[in-house]
Amino acid sequence: MDYVGAIFRPPSEADSMLLQVTVGCSHNKCSYCAMYREKRFRPKPWNVIEKDILEAASIGPRFRKVFLCDGDALILPMGRLVEILTALRQHLPWVERISLYGDTRSVLRKSVSELSQLRQLGLTMVYHGVESGDDEVLRAVEKGGTRSEVVQTAKCLREAAMAHSVIIMLGLGGVQRSEQHIKATASLLSEIDPPFVGVLTTTVVPGTPLAQAEHAGSFVLPSKFDMLRELLYLIENARFSKCRFSSNHASNYLPVRCMLPRDRQSVLSALRAVIDKGDDSVLRPEWSRGL
Ligand code: SF4
Repeated sequence: MDYVGAIFRPPSEADSMLLQVTVGCSHNKCSYCAMYREKRFRPKPWNVIEKDILEAASIGPRFRKVFLCDGDALILPMGRLVEILTALRQHLPWVERISLYGDTRSVLRKSVSELSQLRQLGLTMVYHGVESGDDEVLRAVEKGGTRSEVVQTAKCLREAAMAHSVIIMLGLGGVQRSEQHIKATASLLSEIDPPFVGVLTTTVVPGTPLAQAEHAGSFVLPSKFDMLRELLYLIENARFSKCRFSSNHASNYLPVRCMLPRDRQSVLSALRAVIDKGDDSVLRPEWSRGL
């Protein structure tokens, strides 16, 4: 398989075939993100993608899921996405699920009928980096989308029958906007009611604009227990019809996997016990964390 640079995928895609169809991220501006800073965004040539698909086909039905890398593969034009999904269906007919990262811009550049077409060709899920429901936080971290655009994105994906997995970041408002950040995020989640939520915990990565802001004193990362209090607030206040909620990404201090609202009370009790005790030893150590 042809891989350019470091490859990232959501935790739930650990057993997926990773097919790199773009290099880097077309946005590449989020202040906390160092994932693709060394890569200049480009779509990969069709012959390289096709060779990878044929190589995977020659191995046989080893993977039931495919994740299309890199940062926002949904930004590819319709023609290329149709080409990729059609080839996957033709050569890997045993694949049951295909997913990718898509940000607010890349979803809204497609019409609902285009998203429906992609869904019919096998694209089942979009992992959407929402990060916060607070417009001021989104502006500060240069997320490149607003809360109302996130709501519109959720509506389009729902209409296209595409599963929507929303990514949220604890601590992204810093100490200064922690309360506004988490309240607005809980209310946004209640409004869009996604079937999947993945929580990350902000880590200040050296060399990023967020690290510069921290150095200058304009961003102060909340303590690990304050970020767990944000998690508690989210679980307590966000209202879902039925949501698979997880904080099992490597950045988190405490992995939580539950169904909401079903498991709300038991998870809240366990989380409160950890916070009240204030015992670091039950949290993931810094050396094993990563964003
Ligand atoms: S967080 Fe996502 S959209 Fe933002 S720069 Fe990183 S990969 Fe791109």
